[in-house]
Amino acid sequence: MQEECLFCKIINGEIPADFIYKNDRLVIFKDIYPAAPVHLLIVPRKHIRSINDIKEEDKNIIFEVIMAAKNAAQKMSISEFGYKLNFNVEKGGGQMIFHLHLHLLGGWK
Ligand code: AMP
Ligand code: ZN
Repeated sequence: MQEECLFCKIINGEIPADFIYKNDRLVIFKDIYPAAPVHLLIVPRKHIRSINDIKEEDKNIIFEVIMAAKNAAQKMSISEFGYKLNFNVEKGGGQMIFHLHLHLLGGWK
């Protein structure tokens, strides 16, 4: 938990979000400003700033984040058509919230 981190606050229930999945290691909630018909954020509970900061010890959680995205895409019935998975990395890569998260974007017709 990092104070003043919006996603830590969402994970801890201090700020509401539209959760679609939770387990001990990650949560999934809807992006508040969706950039696609389906726009979910897959967020590890562990506060990691960005992909630049992942370590060997984080390999399981990164794998789980990707698996959770795949499973969420199936649950939302957007798998067959296709979707995007996107990590924005640091300011130049479009990252605005500095708690690692994977964007799942899809649902286009
Ligand atoms: P990024 O630019 O990769 O850091 O993505 C941050 C994402 O978080 C953006 O797509 C925002 O729309 C989204 N976002 C910001 N505040 C909230 C919030 N309170 N609940 C859900 N999503 C949020
Ligand atoms: Zn955080």
